[in-house]
Amino acid sequence: MEQLFCYSCHMHVHSTFSDGHGSPEEILSAAQKAGIDIVCLTDHHTLEPLRRGWEGWHGRTLLLVGTEIGEKANHYLAFNLRRELPANDDDPQQVIDAVRSQGGFGFLAHPFERGSSLFLNGSHFPWNNWQVKGYAGLELWNYCSQWREAVRSYRHGCYHYLFNRHRLVASPPPQALPTWDKLCRQRPVVGICGSDAHALPLKAGPFTASVFPYPFLFRSMNNHLLLRQPLRPGQQQARALVYQALRRGNLFFALDALAHPQKFRCGAFNGSGEKALPGEKITFDRQAVLYAFNPSPRGTIRIIKNGELVYEKKIQNLYFHLLSPGIYRVEVYYTPRFGRPRPWIYANPIYAQRR
Ligand SMILES: [Zn+2]
Ligand SMILES: [Zn+2]
Repeated sequence: MEQLFCYSCHMHVHSTFSDGHGSPEEILSAAQKAGIDIVCLTDHHTLEPLRRGWEGWHGRTLLLVGTEIGEKANHYLAFNLRRELPANDDDPQQVIDAVRSQGGFGFLAHPFERGSSLFLNGSHFPWNNWQVKGYAGLELWNYCSQWREAVRSYRHGCYHYLFNRHRLVASPPPQALPTWDKLCRQRPVVGICGSDAHALPLKAGPFTASVFPYPFLFRSMNNHLLLRQPLRPGQQQARALVYQALRRGNLFFALDALAHPQKFRCGAFNGSGEKALPGEKITFDRQAVLYAFNPSPRGTIRIIKNGELVYEKKIQNLYFHLLSPGIYRVEVYYTPRFGRPRPWIYANPIYAQRR
């Protein structure tokens, strides 16, 4: 196994610079308490936090400023921008291209959102143009969006909110993984998770409480970047390494709330000494091996090849000989003390190709 450095990266966060209810100070304080290494702000249509100097290290937490572009549909999480860009709901390709022309990159936000009649008058913001090209990846698992649409009634919602909150986001939406696997057969597409944190206040008589406050979401679901070198205090080096890992998909994402996933690792190596991390290509040869280390004895490793489950076993250390070229990704399910195995970790694919 390569020596790697793993950093938790919480993406898709709204602050008071748009419709979120926490200031950058509050968000950073929550991230620091939750032990999050990197927080990506994505306020709607503004880079104001960048101009105000919020980007950079705050203690041990790196704050990066992106933005979410889109009004009624086709929301795009864009990073590495210097100037704001207008939405174009009718032609999201134009937004993707404009982001790229600034040297930026992005992810389709909550692309499978269905909405719920119980919230926001049923309004929802799916991605509805799958012909687009040039984006880095998809937000496959969005905590708040999925929670809203899984609630069947106010009673059902209150029960789960109080007693079993993560149950309603038990897995990515049904179309997410098949769509991802299909797209990856055409070109590498990065999968991430996001929280869509807004910390909306809920008033009940004299009491006000925050719905899904930042500290809760920061402990729920995260991306975990795998880097070959550590992030250093200098802002430019760290920003460049984080953005490189996000563009390439050198990461896995997990429902951290089930169990600590940070020590999970996977990658591949071959007979000629090449090594690959999730998101990377490797030349297929007879010695090509996909390895996975699952940090929990309750974990079941699953290997998905070209969209099909080809291996599944409750095991912690796996060396899996590749018998043919293909697109391989690793998932881990976690079996709680009571109940059935639940989706826990999703790594980005490794692309094993013929020379
Ligand atoms: Zn959105
Ligand atoms: Zn959002």
